[in-house]
Amino acid sequence: MYAQRFFDLKPYVPGEQPKDRVYIKLNANENPYPPSPAVQETLRTFDASRFRLYPDPDAQALREAIAEMLGSGITSDMIFTGNGSDEVLSFIFYTFFDSAAPLYFPEHTYSFYPVYAGYYNIPIKRIPLAPDFTIQIESLLEGESAGIIFANPNAPTGIYLPLSGIRRILEGYPKDRVVVVDEAYIDFGGESAICLLPEFPNLVIIRTFSKSFCFAGARLGFVVANPDLIRSLFTTKNSFNHFPVDVLTQEIGIAACHDHAYYRNINALIMHTRDRFASALREAGWDVLPSLTNFVFVRKPGIEGQSVYERIRERGILVRYFNHPGITSWVRISIGLEEDMDRLLEVMKEIH
Ligand code: PMP
Repeated sequence: MYAQRFFDLKPYVPGEQPKDRVYIKLNANENPYPPSPAVQETLRTFDASRFRLYPDPDAQALREAIAEMLGSGITSDMIFTGNGSDEVLSFIFYTFFDSAAPLYFPEHTYSFYPVYAGYYNIPIKRIPLAPDFTIQIESLLEGESAGIIFANPNAPTGIYLPLSGIRRILEGYPKDRVVVVDEAYIDFGGESAICLLPEFPNLVIIRTFSKSFCFAGARLGFVVANPDLIRSLFTTKNSFNHFPVDVLTQEIGIAACHDHAYYRNINALIMHTRDRFASALREAGWDVLPSLTNFVFVRKPGIEGQSVYERIRERGILVRYFNHPGITSWVRISIGLEEDMDRLLEVMKEIH
């Protein structure tokens, strides 16, 4: 009954969503603030009869709004949109990587990359991080790879690789293969690699509305790259699902882009909460990696991550630990509202 390849699947496990009680949910890097009033107004006035018709398969108006929001000479033919950046990642894997050489990525990075590599039968090579959890650029460039992918800032560490590092990777890498930089968390303090696009036609940047635009439930992600690469992603999309972004999400996505100032403000609040929370944790004896994301990666020397997670969960707060060798003593904590983080801080101060 089953295709043989089905038995090889190793599905991604997202942050849990238990229903047994009300939890403060700090385990999926969701944004604690509501979407902008412009998005809420668009929802209120949306004419439901538009659901009768298929959406624009190319999401032209949305791509124009994204390009305009990004500025820096970006045009709509440099934008590709999809049903969350996870789907966009799938199209990228299908389009640019095959079994001829391994795909390189850091040992600890977004854990969906190995899942897609398995799905598309792409060999992989995990490149160890330095002892301080930074990306080792020279090791990423060694040997023959089909492409490179990593998140910047990286997940789950939160550490940002400055643009000088991205430039070194691009300068040292063959121009006939892509370097994919997943900027899911770039709006929380990092500088985007978009300014490097004119110089490096093999650079592919991924973004999502899920975190900094409070859209995790709406599913919208996009790619910024040179128009030739974008055209190839359309070929892949049109061979799989013609209409990945529904008509309502296209509309609210445009409203969100037009209200970019709102998001800059709430994300500044999140960064402020993050920095305050990180210093308070350090004072309480926790190790906290430097983060330019909406989460922090922390550990208490001598206590395993799973035990920290369980003790916090008992108190009605969800965080995330990773059962991956090398990071089992750490937990990842998304930044919520100020009062959520105060509550969590009280709980964590009691963990010895
Ligand atoms: N990239 C990274 C680095 C992420 O952490 C996530 C969120 N899990 C995604 C991509 C996917 O985000 P989404 O599909 O919600 O756009």
